[in-house]
Amino acid sequence: MEDCIFCKIVKGEIPCSKVYETEKVLAFDDINPMAPTHVIIIPKEHIATLMDVKDGGTNIVDHLVSAVQEVAKIKGIDEKGFRMTINCNEEGGQIIFHLHVHVLGGKKLRDELA
Ligand code: 5GP
Ligand code: ZN
Repeated sequence: MEDCIFCKIVKGEIPCSKVYETEKVLAFDDINPMAPTHVIIIPKEHIATLMDVKDGGTNIVDHLVSAVQEVAKIKGIDEKGFRMTINCNEEGGQIIFHLHVHVLGGKKLRDELA
């Protein structure tokens, strides 16, 4: 979608520090990390919010969760632990309206909600 920062990252129009990629998803380091490890995982397809995810077929959420596991292993936080967060809509703290999962770790997390 035009004017969407994360779609521009998918298209390579805005650079990112890539962590992991499949046909369906892209993972990159957050530009403003809230923890030593803070990775953003997005579907390559533009989906605005969690509420816009449709059932049926191969659910994109499955791909995102698989990517969370891979990213946790790549970043070496799979054993110690981490947090995955999806902010939805304004009161949920969503600022970028292209569905994304935050993966936070690398320290004992307390109130970091991303
Ligand atoms: P939200 O509040 O929408 O759940 O989180 C958006 C996240 O995207 C924030 O943590 C913010 O730091 C990150 N972010 C915003 N713009 C960019 C960007 O251009 N590049 C990267 N890597 N992260 C971004
Ligand atoms: Zn988008």
